[in-house]
Amino acid sequence: MKSLILEMEEYAKEHNIPIMEKEGIAFLMKYIKAKNIKNVLEIGSAIGYSAILMASSSPDVKVTTIERDETNYMECLKNVKKCSFEQKVNVVFQDALELNLAEGTQFDLIFIDAAKGQYTKFFEKYKFFLAPGGAIITDNLKFHGYVGKSSEIKSKNLRQLVTKIENYIDFLKNNEEFDTEFYDIGDGVSISVRKNEK
Ligand code: SAH
Ligand code: MG
Repeated sequence: MKSLILEMEEYAKEHNIPIMEKEGIAFLMKYIKAKNIKNVLEIGSAIGYSAILMASSSPDVKVTTIERDETNYMECLKNVKKCSFEQKVNVVFQDALELNLAEGTQFDLIFIDAAKGQYTKFFEKYKFFLAPGGAIITDNLKFHGYVGKSSEIKSKNLRQLVTKIENYIDFLKNNEEFDTEFYDIGDGVSISVRKNEK
């Protein structure tokens, strides 16, 4: 297991795959244990690094993870097999905005870590699958320190992306249904829970 994790970290570095920062994934694993979470939905598997680590955080955690990129999906499947987590990690090859989950499906934790420009869409679509008392956690809210400084960014693409993350943060701050706490951990993480369920 340990060598597989190191292998994945190496692969991610070589292929420029933005896997979670060590501090961020440690925080997620601790949260899963502390809250006794059993079912996780992850949006954005990449090569399975965070999915495998979340699944390993306690014996009865199951992770469903969605990936739209075929190369990453194949790599993710391979890694799940390598650690014999086929029963713990279910990898779905699809665009998360097009996937239709069965009605009544529920997760204690939804982890949003896919296309940063679409965070609000993921949140609005998947909140209906959040179990009572569950949490939606989002990664990369600092986006390498660019968030909050979008007006200074020269590259148009990057500026648009960062603006979308800033808008998502405002969406969370002004949300009538969810309360969100922001953490300066890893690349910036938030935890959103329904207001009446704290
Ligand atoms: N959670 C991973 C890193 C994910 S990187 C980890 O920490 O180990 C983001 C991934 O989201 C990429 O592999 C990208 O292909 C995928 N992605 C982006 N938009 C998506 C979408 N709409 N549906 C599914 N996957 C998406
Ligand atoms: Mg991330």
